[in-house]
Amino acid sequence: MSDYIVSARRYRPATFQSVVGQRPLITTLKNAIQNSKLAHAYLFCGPRGVGKTTCARIFAKTINCTCLKEDGEACNECDFCQSFNENRSHNIYELDAASNNSVENIRFLTEQMRIPPQIGHYKVYIIDEVHMLSTSAFNAFLKTLEEPPHHAMFILATTEKYKIIPTILSRCQIYDFSRITINDIVEYLEYIAQNENISTEREALNIIAQKADGGMRDALSIFDRVASFSANNITYQSVIENLNVLDYEYYFRLVEAILIGDVSCSLLILNKIIRKGFDLQQVIVGLSDFFRDIMVCKDPQTIVLFEIGDSAIREKYLNLSKQCTSDFLYNALELSNECDLNYRYSKNKRLLVELLLIRLCQLCCQLLTDGKDKKKRVIEPLIAKEKNVSVKQEQVFVSEKKSIIESEIPDLLLKVNKLRFSLKKSTEDIDNERNQVYPQQQLFTDKEKFEFLTKKNPVLIILVETFNLSY
Ligand SMILES: [Zn+2]
Repeated sequence: MSDYIVSARRYRPATFQSVVGQRPLITTLKNAIQNSKLAHAYLFCGPRGVGKTTCARIFAKTINCTCLKEDGEACNECDFCQSFNENRSHNIYELDAASNNSVENIRFLTEQMRIPPQIGHYKVYIIDEVHMLSTSAFNAFLKTLEEPPHHAMFILATTEKYKIIPTILSRCQIYDFSRITINDIVEYLEYIAQNENISTEREALNIIAQKADGGMRDALSIFDRVASFSANNITYQSVIENLNVLDYEYYFRLVEAILIGDVSCSLLILNKIIRKGFDLQQVIVGLSDFFRDIMVCKDPQTIVLFEIGDSAIREKYLNLSKQCTSDFLYNALELSNECDLNYRYSKNKRLLVELLLIRLCQLCCQLLTDGKDKKKRVIEPLIAKEKNVSVKQEQVFVSEKKSIIESEIPDLLLKVNKLRFSLKKSTEDIDNERNQVYPQQQLFTDKEKFEFLTKKNPVLIILVETFNLSY
């Protein structure tokens, strides 16, 4: 057996000082210890992997330390600290409520609690995932929690505070742990990499931190995985390959194509992404996040919400944000969010995403020509118009599309719906079919695609006209 220990355990903080990203909360805890104003029950809540259990352990060690340091940290030298560090302390009990959630478990715990500690001042009970306790276990716990013996202290930890009954909440001092910021995670990973002689690229660590979504434990396990995958040389490329993350370059290119209203180019980029094996929903979510990041970059007040620290990428985001108008970004966010919501129900998911790109491109054309050519505006889909249409808009709408009169709308909708179900061919199939006829030509322009589709389905002509997808 090798003596390899995963980073999440090897670098588990042993002092308050080394806990990452929870500064205000740690200060409060330290002050409570230094002023001897300790409550008998604490509730630590927050997302997974942000240091709840770690802080509970450090707290338990520190309140029992016999020669506390001036800065409120445990000395790590006295008998108690040593027994704690060697995992042989009898003062600290950890109970995992996920697997020990019955009344018996709680009764056993309260029985044990009556005996005062041999060394140190407190017996500390750390109950992890406390929201998993059964209702009867919670009730059995209430009395003990309200009036425990003076040598007992409870630290409850949970990721789901809302599941804890109010009678428990009111008996605890509550500490909310926050998500760890991307910059904090990156800095800590850099520190570990230095210690472990692993070479890293800042961009790579940024991606790991983003993927970890505020949890240090997740970040460390991804870090370990990529380190072993890439033989201790963590590059941006190795990270995106290992984590199956879409290179942000694709988003930059996609948005650049959208900004000039180039539908063909945007569809081709999407096609490349799909061929790389990426899930379409991941693309939509990624694109939404990308628009969001550009939006927060645009305003000096919100730029603090942009968490990517790497200066080269930051510069790229800032440059792109200057090219986008706020109007475009709001609309783009709305469209991509709508697409995300509809994704589950869509029968032809690829077409849905392609339609999103087409509408985004149109959005740019519309904004570019706004004021110059009023006729070229995008018409909302019929489905949305049907009910909440104001008289004025309807008149414009009907007069612009003379072929559709009001009484025909329900009928048309029916046809469109039928078409949606019967039209099982995705555009990819069309690509393949046409490829057989014209093997030289690799991909088709949107015009060609629509001509091909409409030849097969005359109803689509109406659909195309209605959605203003003319080419
Ligand atoms: Zn000590």
